Amino acid sequence: MPDPLEDISLDGGWLCLDFTNTVAARVPETGRDYLLTWADFVLWVRRTQLLPDAEFQVWQQLPPGEIAEVKALREAIYDLFAHLAKKGVVHPAHLDTLNSFLHEVYAHTRLYIADAGICRGVSDEFHTDKPLWIIALSAESLLLNERLSRVKSCDNCGWLFLDTSKNGTRRWCNMSTCGSQAKAKAWYHRKKDAMNLRH
Ligand SMILES: [Zn+2]
Repeated sequence: MPDPLEDISLDGGWLCLDFTNTVAARVPETGRDYLLTWADFVLWVRRTQLLPDAEFQVWQQLPPGEIAEVKALREAIYDLFAHLAKKGVVHPAHLDTLNSFLHEVYAHTRLYIADAGICRGVSDEFHTDKPLWIIALSAESLLLNERLSRVKSCDNCGWLFLDTSKNGTRRWCNMSTCGSQAKAKAWYHRKKDAMNLRH
C-alpha cells in the first residue's frame, strides 16, 4: 500500500499549515500520525517540493535529524494557529514557543532581493534541519500577513487552512472530502428527524 504521505492533500494554502495537517485528523481527537520517522518527514518534504529538486537530492543523503524536533515544531505551529482559528487571537505563550525556534533559525537566514521586494530566506548552506527552518519562517510570514484572520480549522476534521474564498465562508479543508462528508451527515440527520416526526 502506498504511504499516505505520497498523495496527502495539501489544502492548507500555506506551507506551515500543510505541515500541521500531517495527522489523519485533529478532531474529535488526534488521528493517525503520518510523521513517525525521519524517513516520513523526507517523504513529506518531497511531496511538498519544499526544496528545489537538486537540493532535495543532496539533502536526503545527509545524516537523518530528530523526528522529535520535527514534531515539536509541528505541534507548536498547530497550537498557535488552532488557538487563533478558535479564539481569534494569538496566545502569548504560543508566540514564545515559536520565538524560541526562530531564535535558532535566524542564525541561518539572510535578506535577499526578490521580484516582490526584499525578503528573508534561509541561506544556501546544506543542513539536515533546513526544511524545519523554512517551515518556521513560513509560520512567521503567515503571522505577519494581512490574511492572518483567515486561518481556520476544518469543521469536519480540524485540519488548518487559510480561507482564500472571496467572502471568507469556507468551512472545510477540502470540499470533496470533508465538505461532502459533512453534507452527507447533515442530510442523514435531516432525514432521521423527518422520519422521527412521522412516528
Ligand atoms: Zn477537513
